[in-house]
Amino acid sequence: MSTVRVRFAPSPTGDLHVGGARTALFNWLFARHHGGVFVLRIEDTDAARSTEAATQVILDALEYLKLEWDEGPGKGGDFGPYYQSQRLDLYKQYADRLLEIGRAYHCYCTPEELDQRRQEQIKAGQSTRYDGRCRHLTDEERQAFEAEGRVPVIRFKSLEEGETKVEDLVRGTVIFDNVTQVDDFVIFKSDGMPTYNFAVVVDDALMKITHVIRGDDHLSNTPKQIQIYEALGFAVPKFAHIPMILGPDKSLLSKRHGATSVTQFYEEGYLAEAMVNYLALLGWGYDDSQTIFSIPELIEKFSLERVSKNPAVFDKQKLEWMNGVYIRELTLEGLYEVCLPFCQKAGLLPEEVSPELKDYTLRVLEQLQSRLKLVADVVDLARYFYRDDYEYNMEVVQKILTKPQTEEILGYVHAAVKDAPKLDEEHLKPQFQEGLKKFGIKMGDLIQPVRVALTGTNVSPGIYDVLELLGRERVLARIEHTLEMLKEKELI
Ligand code: GLU
Repeated sequence: MSTVRVRFAPSPTGDLHVGGARTALFNWLFARHHGGVFVLRIEDTDAARSTEAATQVILDALEYLKLEWDEGPGKGGDFGPYYQSQRLDLYKQYADRLLEIGRAYHCYCTPEELDQRRQEQIKAGQSTRYDGRCRHLTDEERQAFEAEGRVPVIRFKSLEEGETKVEDLVRGTVIFDNVTQVDDFVIFKSDGMPTYNFAVVVDDALMKITHVIRGDDHLSNTPKQIQIYEALGFAVPKFAHIPMILGPDKSLLSKRHGATSVTQFYEEGYLAEAMVNYLALLGWGYDDSQTIFSIPELIEKFSLERVSKNPAVFDKQKLEWMNGVYIRELTLEGLYEVCLPFCQKAGLLPEEVSPELKDYTLRVLEQLQSRLKLVADVVDLARYFYRDDYEYNMEVVQKILTKPQTEEILGYVHAAVKDAPKLDEEHLKPQFQEGLKKFGIKMGDLIQPVRVALTGTNVSPGIYDVLELLGRERVLARIEHTLEMLKEKELI
């Protein structure tokens, strides 16, 4: 059997969305499963909408997801160039061939004329399609149009009878009626650029793509593409159209549903492994029970037979949960690596982290690991470990620090911390227990005010861990500062 060759062919007109990322992933998994080749091709023929910046965003997003391509931008390969904008000569060459063999023709109809005829078709209850008017122009008619200054498009002469069968690896056999479902579509626009349906065939054929795996929204383009393959004598690849992704309200997933671009997910702090695991389950599954798949396991188990025909529903909560699972599985060093850029960006850590500061950070992260759902959460959860100017949650302050005895309790803890030989549970707990008797309170009544004073809020790792990490100097200063703040605001 020949080597499997698949491709991901994004149009760089915006961010890489969940749907595109899932298409890239399925192609990548399929290639890796079969020991094949994963090609990345940038479909940038729409000059008005394609930007280099968007191409870079897509490349970065694929890199973040670790979906490494074997051929394409930055990688080279035997079938380049891998930007459609650099392949215009090839498209021209094959369009000329179609013209020569009588399977394409110049069409001079103007957009206004086409629109008018479309309106008439609608009025007559007919399907809207090109009516073939320029199929059989005489030389005189053609010259007259040229003399008027009309610039033609090139249309493909589609089959006038029969049907085109798509043998889809996901959808099964899908039959299209050539007369009503495939018209003489444009393959070259009047601006000299090829259309998607044409360029994609030339590229997939010349790049020797064996399997075209892409979104369901392209199924209706497939009969057109098959007719071009056949007209040019190219081998037709196998097709697999993967189901659409819907939002929780069952409409197509879009920005309305919140974050949908891979960049946003990266910025919100999703781990690549969690994203990949979650995306794999959008339309694919191994069995009903397994949800967590490592990447090697996905590669081993992935097959198109297990891709569903039905749309998949994007469930952000599940993704968030999965991210937490992967965060908890990280080693401390691994957690540090993913948290570092977020902490640096927020100014909690400098560009150059000293060994001591890294050590301290590893201890902080050890305390926070079980609490993180998103890597980005580390910034808020860790802020008071790095900054003395953390903010007080005033609601919590009102609730906890305005109770009677607050000043005495905090004063007592201040003294205990000052005198303790070491700030750990062993040395502090007995002191705190003494305090409970003295004030006639429970442990929580002592710990909560201390926690709020030290962190500004009422949720944090265990109090002894916080005390130990912050160290004597900062603990004393924070208690003093909190008491001043309470007095200033006349809360005590
Ligand atoms: N550039 C097309 C898109 O982004 C590629 C479709 C295909 O895979 O054929 O939708």
